[in-house]
Amino acid sequence: AKAAGGNRYELADADSDARVIARHSLTNCLPAALDNGEFFIEYQPLVRLDDGTVRGAEALVRWLHPVHGVLGPDQFIPLAESTGLIVPLGHWVLQEAARQARAWRAEGTCEGPLRVNVNLSPSQLRHPALVAETVAVLDSSGLDPSALCLEVTENALIGADEEELRPLRQLADLGVDIALDDFGTGYSNLSYLRRLPVSTLKLDRSFTRGMQRAPADPVDVKIVEGIVSLAHTLDLSVTVEGVETGTQAEHLRVLGCDTAQGWYYARPGPPERLHTLSLVDAAS
Ligand code: C2E
Ligand code: CA
Ligand code: CA
Ligand code: CA
Repeated sequence: AKAAGGNRYELADADSDARVIARHSLTNCLPAALDNGEFFIEYQPLVRLDDGTVRGAEALVRWLHPVHGVLGPDQFIPLAESTGLIVPLGHWVLQEAARQARAWRAEGTCEGPLRVNVNLSPSQLRHPALVAETVAVLDSSGLDPSALCLEVTENALIGADEEELRPLRQLADLGVDIALDDFGTGYSNLSYLRRLPVSTLKLDRSFTRGMQRAPADPVDVKIVEGIVSLAHTLDLSVTVEGVETGTQAEHLRVLGCDTAQGWYYARPGPPERLHTLSLVDAAS
Protein backbone atom coordinates (compact mmCIF):
# COMPACT_ATOMS: atom_id res chain seq x y z
CA ALA A 1 0.00 0.00 0.00
CA LYS A 2 1.17 3.51 -0.72
CA ALA A 3 0.41 6.42 1.56
CA ALA A 4 -1.68 9.02 -0.23
CA GLY A 5 -1.85 11.89 2.22
CA GLY A 6 -4.09 12.29 5.25
CA ASN A 7 -5.54 9.02 6.33
CA ARG A 8 -6.28 7.97 2.75
CA TYR A 9 -4.14 5.41 1.02
CA GLU A 10 -4.10 3.74 -2.34
CA LEU A 11 -4.17 -0.02 -2.57
CA ALA A 12 -1.14 -0.96 -4.60
CA ASP A 13 -1.92 -3.31 -7.44
CA ALA A 14 -1.23 -6.93 -6.68
CA ASP A 15 1.49 -7.33 -9.32
CA SER A 16 3.79 -4.62 -8.03
CA ASP A 17 3.59 -5.58 -4.38
CA ALA A 18 3.74 -9.31 -5.01
CA ARG A 19 7.32 -8.81 -6.09
CA VAL A 20 8.20 -7.14 -2.80
CA ILE A 21 6.27 -9.18 -0.30
CA ALA A 22 7.15 -12.82 -0.11
CA ARG A 23 4.00 -14.85 -0.50
CA HIS A 24 4.94 -17.41 2.08
CA SER A 25 5.66 -14.83 4.76
CA LEU A 26 2.20 -13.35 4.23
CA THR A 27 0.65 -16.79 4.27
CA ASN A 28 2.39 -17.59 7.54
CA CYS A 29 1.07 -14.56 9.34
CA LEU A 30 -2.52 -14.79 8.04
CA PRO A 31 -3.94 -16.86 10.94
CA ALA A 32 -2.40 -14.60 13.60
CA ALA A 33 -3.62 -11.54 11.70
CA LEU A 34 -7.20 -12.69 12.16
CA ASP A 35 -6.66 -13.26 15.90
CA ASN A 36 -4.91 -9.89 16.23
CA GLY A 37 -7.74 -7.97 14.60
CA GLU A 38 -5.60 -6.74 11.68
CA PHE A 39 -8.43 -7.00 9.13
CA PHE A 40 -10.91 -4.23 8.56
CA ILE A 41 -13.74 -3.59 6.15
CA GLU A 42 -14.37 -0.71 3.79
CA TYR A 43 -17.81 -0.15 2.35
CA GLN A 44 -18.56 1.05 -1.16
CA PRO A 45 -22.06 2.40 -1.83
CA LEU A 46 -24.46 0.84 -4.30
CA VAL A 47 -26.55 3.53 -5.93
CA ARG A 48 -29.92 3.22 -7.65
CA LEU A 49 -29.55 4.58 -11.16
CA ASP A 50 -33.17 5.80 -11.47
CA ASP A 51 -33.22 8.14 -8.48
CA GLY A 52 -29.60 8.27 -7.29
CA THR A 53 -30.36 7.01 -3.78
CA VAL A 54 -27.98 4.74 -1.88
CA ARG A 55 -29.49 1.29 -1.60
CA GLY A 56 -26.65 -0.38 0.28
CA ALA A 57 -22.94 -1.05 0.22
CA GLU A 58 -20.48 -3.79 -0.61
CA ALA A 59 -18.17 -4.93 2.18
CA LEU A 60 -14.55 -5.10 0.94
CA VAL A 61 -11.95 -6.53 3.29
CA ARG A 62 -8.47 -5.03 3.84
CA TRP A 63 -5.51 -6.11 5.93
CA LEU A 64 -3.62 -3.57 8.00
CA HIS A 65 -0.32 -5.41 8.05
CA PRO A 66 2.05 -4.24 10.83
CA VAL A 67 4.99 -4.05 8.39
CA HIS A 68 3.56 -3.68 4.89
CA GLY A 69 0.70 -1.33 5.66
CA VAL A 70 -2.74 -1.73 4.08
CA LEU A 71 -2.97 -4.69 1.74
CA GLY A 72 -5.85 -5.12 -0.72
CA PRO A 73 -7.82 -8.35 -1.04
CA ASP A 74 -6.14 -9.28 -4.32
CA GLN A 75 -2.93 -9.66 -2.31
CA PHE A 76 -4.22 -12.00 0.38
CA ILE A 77 -7.61 -13.53 -0.57
CA PRO A 78 -5.94 -16.03 -2.95
CA LEU A 79 -3.55 -17.03 -0.12
CA ALA A 80 -6.41 -17.31 2.36
CA GLU A 81 -8.33 -19.35 -0.19
CA SER A 82 -5.50 -21.82 -0.76
CA THR A 83 -4.80 -22.28 2.97
CA GLY A 84 -8.43 -22.55 4.06
CA LEU A 85 -8.22 -19.44 6.25
CA ILE A 86 -10.82 -17.88 3.97
CA VAL A 87 -13.53 -19.77 5.86
CA PRO A 88 -12.96 -18.12 9.28
CA LEU A 89 -11.97 -14.83 7.60
CA GLY A 90 -15.10 -14.84 5.44
CA HIS A 91 -17.19 -15.64 8.50
CA TRP A 92 -15.67 -12.67 10.31
CA VAL A 93 -16.47 -10.39 7.35
CA LEU A 94 -20.07 -11.63 7.29
CA GLN A 95 -20.48 -11.13 11.03
CA GLU A 96 -18.95 -7.67 10.98
CA ALA A 97 -20.88 -6.53 7.88
CA ALA A 98 -24.18 -7.81 9.32
CA ARG A 99 -23.54 -5.96 12.56
CA GLN A 100 -22.74 -2.80 10.59
CA ALA A 101 -25.85 -3.08 8.41
CA ARG A 102 -27.98 -3.55 11.50
CA ALA A 103 -26.40 -0.42 13.00
CA TRP A 104 -27.08 1.62 9.84
CA ARG A 105 -30.68 0.50 9.96
CA ALA A 106 -31.04 1.34 13.64
CA GLU A 107 -29.53 4.79 13.02
CA GLY A 108 -32.01 5.36 10.22
CA THR A 109 -29.05 6.13 7.97
CA CYS A 110 -31.21 5.82 4.89
CA GLU A 111 -34.91 6.40 4.23
CA GLY A 112 -35.25 3.07 2.47
CA PRO A 113 -34.00 -0.31 3.66
CA LEU A 114 -30.22 -0.36 3.47
CA ARG A 115 -28.55 -3.57 2.37
CA VAL A 116 -25.09 -4.97 2.72
CA ASN A 117 -23.31 -7.08 0.09
CA VAL A 118 -20.76 -9.67 1.21
CA ASN A 119 -18.44 -11.65 -1.08
CA LEU A 120 -18.45 -15.43 -0.70
CA SER A 121 -15.42 -17.38 -1.83
CA PRO A 122 -15.65 -20.82 -3.50
CA SER A 123 -14.48 -22.61 -0.30
CA GLN A 124 -17.14 -20.88 1.75
CA LEU A 125 -19.71 -21.93 -0.83
CA ARG A 126 -18.67 -25.56 -0.47
CA HIS A 127 -18.45 -25.44 3.32
CA PRO A 128 -21.13 -27.65 4.92
CA ALA A 129 -21.89 -25.10 7.66
CA LEU A 130 -22.57 -22.18 5.28
CA VAL A 131 -26.34 -22.11 5.71
CA ALA A 132 -26.34 -22.72 9.46
CA GLU A 133 -23.65 -20.12 10.10
CA THR A 134 -25.30 -17.51 7.91
CA VAL A 135 -28.61 -18.05 9.70
CA ALA A 136 -26.80 -17.77 13.05
CA VAL A 137 -25.21 -14.47 12.00
CA LEU A 138 -28.57 -13.09 10.87
CA ASP A 139 -30.16 -14.17 14.15
CA SER A 140 -27.47 -12.76 16.40
CA SER A 141 -27.22 -9.46 14.52
CA GLY A 142 -30.98 -9.09 14.19
CA LEU A 143 -30.56 -8.31 10.49
CA ASP A 144 -33.42 -9.15 8.18
CA PRO A 145 -32.39 -11.74 5.53
CA SER A 146 -33.58 -9.40 2.78
CA ALA A 147 -30.96 -6.85 3.94
CA LEU A 148 -28.16 -9.26 3.05
CA CYS A 149 -26.84 -9.90 -0.43
CA LEU A 150 -24.23 -12.62 -0.93
CA GLU A 151 -22.01 -12.17 -3.99
CA VAL A 152 -20.79 -15.32 -5.68
CA THR A 153 -18.60 -15.23 -8.76
CA GLU A 154 -19.85 -16.68 -11.98
CA ASN A 155 -16.77 -18.92 -12.13
CA ALA A 156 -17.48 -20.41 -8.69
CA LEU A 157 -20.89 -21.62 -9.91
CA ILE A 158 -20.07 -22.85 -13.40
CA GLY A 159 -20.69 -26.55 -13.54
CA ALA A 160 -22.35 -26.73 -10.10
CA ASP A 161 -25.14 -29.29 -10.07
CA GLU A 162 -28.42 -29.10 -8.16
CA GLU A 163 -26.87 -30.72 -5.09
CA GLU A 164 -24.05 -28.17 -4.98
CA LEU A 165 -26.48 -25.31 -5.47
CA ARG A 166 -28.74 -26.41 -2.62
CA PRO A 167 -27.12 -24.25 0.12
CA LEU A 168 -27.49 -21.14 -2.03
CA ARG A 169 -31.06 -22.07 -2.86
CA GLN A 170 -31.81 -22.50 0.85
CA LEU A 171 -30.39 -19.07 1.58
CA ALA A 172 -32.36 -17.57 -1.30
CA ASP A 173 -35.52 -19.23 0.05
CA LEU A 174 -34.86 -17.56 3.40
CA GLY A 175 -34.93 -14.22 1.62
CA VAL A 176 -31.20 -13.60 1.21
CA ASP A 177 -30.40 -11.99 -2.12
CA ILE A 178 -27.79 -13.82 -4.21
CA ALA A 179 -25.78 -11.86 -6.79
CA LEU A 180 -23.71 -13.34 -9.59
CA ASP A 181 -20.45 -11.36 -9.37
CA ASP A 182 -18.08 -10.57 -12.26
CA PHE A 183 -20.83 -11.60 -14.64
CA GLY A 184 -19.64 -11.98 -18.21
CA THR A 185 -16.06 -12.93 -17.36
CA GLY A 186 -16.74 -16.65 -17.19
CA TYR A 187 -18.65 -18.84 -19.50
CA SER A 188 -22.15 -19.64 -18.41
CA ASN A 189 -24.76 -20.58 -20.92
CA LEU A 190 -28.11 -18.94 -20.73
CA SER A 191 -30.14 -21.99 -19.85
CA TYR A 192 -27.80 -22.52 -16.90
CA LEU A 193 -28.43 -18.97 -15.71
CA ARG A 194 -32.11 -19.80 -15.39
CA ARG A 195 -31.42 -22.60 -12.94
CA LEU A 196 -29.32 -20.54 -10.54
CA PRO A 197 -30.95 -19.15 -7.37
CA VAL A 198 -29.69 -15.65 -8.13
CA SER A 199 -31.64 -12.41 -8.22
CA THR A 200 -28.93 -10.00 -9.35
CA LEU A 201 -26.27 -9.94 -12.06
CA LYS A 202 -23.21 -7.84 -11.30
CA LEU A 203 -21.85 -6.92 -14.68
CA ASP A 204 -18.05 -6.91 -14.81
CA ARG A 205 -16.55 -3.51 -15.48
CA SER A 206 -14.81 -4.67 -18.64
CA PHE A 207 -18.19 -4.22 -20.38
CA THR A 208 -18.67 -0.62 -19.40
CA ARG A 209 -15.18 0.78 -19.84
CA GLY A 210 -16.06 1.80 -23.40
CA MET A 211 -18.77 4.13 -22.05
CA GLN A 212 -16.59 6.30 -19.85
CA ARG A 213 -16.51 9.08 -22.42
CA ALA A 214 -18.83 10.11 -25.24
CA PRO A 215 -19.20 8.70 -27.81
CA ALA A 216 -19.70 5.34 -26.20
CA ASP A 217 -18.28 2.24 -27.85
CA PRO A 218 -21.26 1.05 -29.94
CA VAL A 219 -20.40 -2.64 -29.46
CA ASP A 220 -20.30 -2.27 -25.66
CA VAL A 221 -23.65 -0.50 -25.80
CA LYS A 222 -25.17 -3.39 -27.77
CA ILE A 223 -23.73 -5.99 -25.39
CA VAL A 224 -24.99 -4.25 -22.26
CA GLU A 225 -28.36 -3.70 -23.93
CA GLY A 226 -28.56 -7.42 -24.65
CA ILE A 227 -27.56 -8.45 -21.13
CA VAL A 228 -30.03 -6.06 -19.51
CA SER A 229 -32.85 -7.29 -21.68
CA LEU A 230 -31.96 -10.92 -20.94
CA ALA A 231 -31.63 -10.24 -17.21
CA HIS A 232 -34.95 -8.44 -17.00
CA THR A 233 -36.65 -11.22 -18.95
CA LEU A 234 -35.39 -13.63 -16.29
CA ASP A 235 -36.53 -11.21 -13.57
CA LEU A 236 -32.97 -10.43 -12.51
CA SER A 237 -31.75 -7.04 -11.47
CA VAL A 238 -28.56 -5.62 -13.03
CA THR A 239 -25.78 -3.95 -11.07
CA VAL A 240 -22.84 -2.40 -12.90
CA GLU A 241 -19.41 -2.21 -11.32
CA GLY A 242 -16.57 0.22 -11.93
CA VAL A 243 -18.61 3.28 -12.87
CA GLU A 244 -16.00 6.01 -12.97
CA THR A 245 -17.62 8.89 -14.89
CA GLY A 246 -20.96 10.66 -15.07
CA THR A 247 -21.12 9.93 -18.80
CA GLN A 248 -20.89 6.23 -18.05
CA ALA A 249 -23.56 6.44 -15.34
CA GLU A 250 -25.93 8.22 -17.71
CA HIS A 251 -25.39 5.64 -20.49
CA LEU A 252 -26.04 2.81 -18.07
CA ARG A 253 -29.16 4.46 -16.70
CA VAL A 254 -30.55 4.91 -20.21
CA LEU A 255 -29.69 1.29 -21.01
CA GLY A 256 -31.89 0.23 -18.09
CA CYS A 257 -29.29 -0.95 -15.56
CA ASP A 258 -30.74 -0.88 -12.06
CA THR A 259 -27.85 -0.22 -9.69
CA ALA A 260 -24.33 1.16 -10.00
CA GLN A 261 -21.14 1.06 -7.98
CA GLY A 262 -17.88 2.84 -8.63
CA TRP A 263 -15.48 5.68 -8.01
CA TYR A 264 -17.85 8.16 -9.68
CA TYR A 265 -20.08 7.81 -6.60
CA ALA A 266 -17.55 6.88 -3.94
CA ARG A 267 -14.41 4.87 -3.35
CA PRO A 268 -14.63 2.17 -0.70
CA GLY A 269 -14.41 3.86 2.70
CA PRO A 270 -15.16 3.63 6.41
CA PRO A 271 -18.75 2.82 7.44
CA GLU A 272 -19.42 6.38 8.67
CA ARG A 273 -18.97 7.65 5.12
CA LEU A 274 -22.13 5.91 4.00
CA HIS A 275 -24.01 7.94 6.54
CA THR A 276 -22.87 11.22 4.98
CA LEU A 277 -23.66 9.99 1.47
CA SER A 278 -27.18 8.92 2.38
CA LEU A 279 -27.90 12.17 4.17
CA VAL A 280 -26.79 14.09 1.08
CA ASP A 281 -29.20 12.00 -0.98
CA ALA A 282 -32.05 12.39 1.46
CA ALA A 283 -31.56 16.16 1.46
CA SER A 284 -31.44 16.60 -2.32
P1 C2E B 1 -15.08 -7.43 -6.55
O1 C2E B 1 -16.03 -8.19 -5.70
O2 C2E B 1 -15.30 -7.44 -8.01
O3 C2E B 1 -15.09 -5.94 -5.95
C1 C2E B 1 -15.00 -4.78 -6.73
C2 C2E B 1 -13.59 -4.26 -6.81
O4 C2E B 1 -13.54 -3.15 -7.70
C3 C2E B 1 -13.06 -3.73 -5.46
O5 C2E B 1 -11.67 -3.97 -5.42
C4 C2E B 1 -13.32 -2.22 -5.59
O6 C2E B 1 -12.50 -1.44 -4.75
C5 C2E B 1 -13.00 -2.01 -7.05
N1 C2E B 1 -13.68 -0.82 -7.59
C6 C2E B 1 -14.80 -0.24 -7.14
N2 C2E B 1 -15.17 0.80 -7.92
C7 C2E B 1 -14.25 0.90 -8.90
C8 C2E B 1 -14.08 1.80 -10.03
O7 C2E B 1 -14.87 2.70 -10.28
N3 C2E B 1 -13.01 1.55 -10.84
C9 C2E B 1 -12.11 0.56 -10.60
N4 C2E B 1 -11.09 0.43 -11.44
N5 C2E B 1 -12.25 -0.31 -9.55
C10 C2E B 1 -13.29 -0.14 -8.72
P2 C2E B 1 -10.97 -4.51 -4.11
O8 C2E B 1 -11.56 -3.85 -2.90
O9 C2E B 1 -9.50 -4.42 -4.33
O10 C2E B 1 -11.41 -6.03 -4.07
C11 C2E B 1 -10.92 -6.94 -5.04
C12 C2E B 1 -11.62 -8.26 -4.98
O11 C2E B 1 -11.32 -8.94 -3.75
C13 C2E B 1 -13.14 -8.15 -4.98
O12 C2E B 1 -13.58 -7.94 -6.30
C14 C2E B 1 -13.54 -9.49 -4.40
O13 C2E B 1 -13.52 -10.48 -5.40
C15 C2E B 1 -12.40 -9.77 -3.43
N6 C2E B 1 -12.86 -9.49 -2.04
C16 C2E B 1 -12.95 -8.31 -1.39
N7 C2E B 1 -13.43 -8.48 -0.14
C17 C2E B 1 -13.66 -9.83 -0.01
C18 C2E B 1 -14.18 -10.65 1.06
O14 C2E B 1 -14.54 -10.21 2.16
N8 C2E B 1 -14.25 -12.00 0.79
C19 C2E B 1 -13.88 -12.54 -0.40
N9 C2E B 1 -14.00 -13.86 -0.58
N10 C2E B 1 -13.42 -11.78 -1.41
C20 C2E B 1 -13.30 -10.45 -1.22
CA1 CA C 1 -18.05 -8.41 -5.27
CA1 CA D 1 -17.14 -7.93 -9.22
CA1 CA E 1 -13.55 -8.53 -9.62
